[in-house]
Amino acid sequence: SVVTVDMVDPWNNYVIRNSTVEKRKHTLDDVTEFNKFKIDNHQNRSLAEKVSLYKGDITRLELGAIVNAANSMLKAGGGVDGAIHRAAGPHLQEECDTLGGCPTGEAKITGGYNLPSQYVIHTVGPQDASPAMLKKCYENSLAFHKSHKITTIAFPCISTGIYGFPNRLAAHIALRTTRQFLEQNDRMERVIFCTFMPVDVEIYETLMQMYFPVH
Ligand code: ADP
Repeated sequence: SVVTVDMVDPWNNYVIRNSTVEKRKHTLDDVTEFNKFKIDNHQNRSLAEKVSLYKGDITRLELGAIVNAANSMLKAGGGVDGAIHRAAGPHLQEECDTLGGCPTGEAKITGGYNLPSQYVIHTVGPQDASPAMLKKCYENSLAFHKSHKITTIAFPCISTGIYGFPNRLAAHIALRTTRQFLEQNDRMERVIFCTFMPVDVEIYETLMQMYFPVH
């Protein structure tokens, strides 16, 4: 049951088909957070077609890369990290062991082994709810698109599980950083936000309308 990039709708189609999404309302705090960010409205339509919201298991996605919310030792742990290592098989840990760990905010890349995706990008999210560090995780993960010619990539909700980052602020940072990246890098074809917890599904449905409007 592999999910290919054609099966995850661009945000554009998603909003049009799913009317419940349009009813979701952002809060005043969302507006305050959003206003920290200057968007180039001319690019709105084309950028909305480059993001998708996916709900479910990131290990099923067949993409250029999936991102792992790893720990600094790059040792298989719980949460999405455990799921990725289980699905990839033991050779993923063997390659991780050659990398000498990974500091918070940085990212390292490995093969995908038994996963449908070609690469796994391991990034280490902050444990102290640092917005700047979480932003670096997204930037450093996306930066591999150049060296490894990655055109499709999926992110889990980094740091919002065991590391306890507030979900809503984490989503603002993920969406803002991705938007800024897509405005400057037109070779990236699709960035997929992989939500797993119902709370994150609802947050992303609301905030994607702000950062990636379709009208
Ligand atoms: P962190 O340690 O960075 O907080 P976690 O793995 O604990 O990372 O959680 C990050 C997010 O990944 C959480 O929302 C968690 O529910 C989600 N998650 C867990 N398993 C999967 C999976 N198989 N696919 C996608 N997301 C997952």
